[in-house]
Amino acid sequence: MKKYYLMAPGPTPVPSNVLLAMAQPMIHHRTREYEALFIEVRAGLKRLFRTDQDVIPFTSSGTGAMEAAVANTLSSGDTVLVLRAGKFGERWEEICRAYGVRAIPVSAPFGETVPAERFAKALGEHPEARAVLMQHSESSTGVLHDVTGIAAATGATGAILIVDAVSSLGIADLQMDAWGVDLVVAGSQKGLMLPPGLSFCALSEKAWGHVKVSRLPKYYFDLTAEWKAVSKNEAHFTPAVSIVLGLREVLRMIEAEGLQNVLKRHERLARATRSGVEALGLDLFAKATPSPALTAVAAPRGLDSEQVLAAYSASHNITIAGGQGEMKGKVFRLGHMGYVGDFDVLTALAALEQVLHELGQPVDFGAAVRAAQKVFAERS
Ligand SMILES: *Cc1c(COP(=O)(O)O)cnc(C)c1O
Repeated sequence: MKKYYLMAPGPTPVPSNVLLAMAQPMIHHRTREYEALFIEVRAGLKRLFRTDQDVIPFTSSGTGAMEAAVANTLSSGDTVLVLRAGKFGERWEEICRAYGVRAIPVSAPFGETVPAERFAKALGEHPEARAVLMQHSESSTGVLHDVTGIAAATGATGAILIVDAVSSLGIADLQMDAWGVDLVVAGSQKGLMLPPGLSFCALSEKAWGHVKVSRLPKYYFDLTAEWKAVSKNEAHFTPAVSIVLGLREVLRMIEAEGLQNVLKRHERLARATRSGVEALGLDLFAKATPSPALTAVAAPRGLDSEQVLAAYSASHNITIAGGQGEMKGKVFRLGHMGYVGDFDVLTALAALEQVLHELGQPVDFGAAVRAAQKVFAERS
């Protein structure tokens, strides 16, 4: 037997109390019990998203909510700006293309970010732009993009800001209302410590204004119809009842820890991970502000990062992630979001030392672990 560890940047480990909550006997969704469950979840989601608006859940992975964001706020032939600096930025472009929306990329090399000033300039050049689409945490490169700066740039225009926060909600500070973010997209299987299967959209008044004039087709992912149900503490279609039960537990856990403490914990775990990785002489893939959700590491010279993943898996029964698309072979990614503590990071780093050694790299055993422990020993 080899104990299994899930250390990928999503899906993430699910705490046992959440697993138990989800193991309860099925209840029907048109009942008083479901209504009471949803009332609690509805209020908790607003606090987590830092918004007075309703958060609308869908039964899908995160990409479903990304598609809902596009299909409900835009029309065929509309122009939008997309922050393209990773695979998830490209996903926004692909969704736009599928719906006949003209996506103008505002790009940076993978591993970097786009400063807000470039969006201010691009919005000036494209006054017809109806939206700006971006990731908060670009999970393919491990970069955290500048939501506040870009929100300030879009706020001054008729365009709405749509932020994919799938790998930042409950991980990095994101204040939807205070920062002027118009549409936040999230999912269940990253910071929310749940199985995949729930996604979320929250919309500002400005975004609902876009919804009113959107002419793109939608049926299952119809935000207006779904919001009508939410406003009555119901679901339009059969919801993922078990995951909603788990979500109630997760929201209680986050409130018990305190959202600010949750964010601080992630920042600290990320700092320790980076410190450990660098202590082994490896380079971070992120050249801009690193995400607190995951650490993307450039494969050491002479190694294919797929060998690193394979060794983590074969020798230690640990799942991490590799590079997506053109980054395949060049980067490996360690997740530290959600149900993660100090000793998970130390495990990932200790295993990294062993993996590198197994792959014939010179390793100063203990160096990564020591560097991370020093970060943990700092007074916060
Ligand atoms: C995980 C993730 C998604 C959603 O992917 P799904 O596989 O559809 O859940 C979207 N954006 C980012 C940044 C992610 O990390």
